[in-house]
Amino acid sequence: ARILSALQEGVLATDTEQVLLHANDAARKLLDIKGETSGRRLWEVCRVAQLNSMVDVALETHEPDEQTLQVGTRFLEVSVELLPNGGSGPGGVIIVCQDVTEHHRLESIRVDFVADASHELKTPLAVIKGMVETIIDDPAMPKDVRAGFLSKIAQQTNRLSHIVDELLQLSRFDQFYQSDPGLIELDLVGLTRHAVKSQESLATSRSIILDFRTGLENSQVMGDRESLVQLLVNLLDNAIKYSVSGDTVVVELKQAGDFMNVAVIDEGPGIPEEDQSRIFERFYRVDPARSKELGGTGLGLSIVKHIASTHGGEITVQSKVGAGSTFTLSLPKLG
Ligand code: ADP
Repeated sequence: ARILSALQEGVLATDTEQVLLHANDAARKLLDIKGETSGRRLWEVCRVAQLNSMVDVALETHEPDEQTLQVGTRFLEVSVELLPNGGSGPGGVIIVCQDVTEHHRLESIRVDFVADASHELKTPLAVIKGMVETIIDDPAMPKDVRAGFLSKIAQQTNRLSHIVDELLQLSRFDQFYQSDPGLIELDLVGLTRHAVKSQESLATSRSIILDFRTGLENSQVMGDRESLVQLLVNLLDNAIKYSVSGDTVVVELKQAGDFMNVAVIDEGPGIPEEDQSRIFERFYRVDPARSKELGGTGLGLSIVKHIASTHGGEITVQSKVGAGSTFTLSLPKLG
């Protein structure tokens, strides 16, 4: 309830000709829009050139976009989503703007988890709210257009529930380890094979080859089965998500001194060096728009890191832009 009442996103909706269908008060304030808006075009009332050009591009390419814009002394996070029209091609756009000036200021300080999570939930909520309000504002909206809106609303609702699922996962693992770490002896070979198998149909559906390699029959480690499977599934899911059709994802398990290493190696786009230390942070994404398009939440790797550390292990990444990524889990070997 607090999150809802604190919603102060600017929300605007336009048709394909950029004629405004809806503009809330927050949008007027954030974008300094004055006077009557209905029936007028976005660029006639909004002087933020970067935002106008984001909308031009989104309508032209049919691709949603998300950017942080500097407007005077403030930072605005702007997300442009396409509105359905009942047929092919967009019926317009919905624009959500959040003032993230304070968020920017706090970024160097440790941002509170609740603040992070609320921030992530706000954009999809604002999109839903904006679409619902657009439907309410336009009682004469054709049936098929309305159906398109509802399906977009369903999509955003799914995204919200995905984020909440992963948040719950994080907190469940937290509580689990605080109350009873209860690690048991496990065979990492069998467990890894199981995790790889569970992702096989996803890989096949995207024409990606999953290749599990190990010279070991079995290898014992101390662990919690469910958490370790989750960890590997998150790594595999990313490797598959960021690969393209025809690529191979290799999972390699081998001993390295007193540790067992499981490496997940992909041929994807790689990760820029300056981002590599940050991708394990909650909600950090190298390319937010692309991550969201792929159904990402930015939480997967923070869960991975959390599980690895509660097992006395470590997760490392080696990657080069254009040359793929290797994520390696190291767990202390038993005996
Ligand atoms: P997401 O849900 O966005 O995938 P993650 O926490 O799993 O969140 O990953 C954080 C970010 O790290 C991703 O948004 C992506 O930019 C980058 N990333 C993770 N795995 C890979 C990979 N295998 N190849 C390229 N980039 C990756």
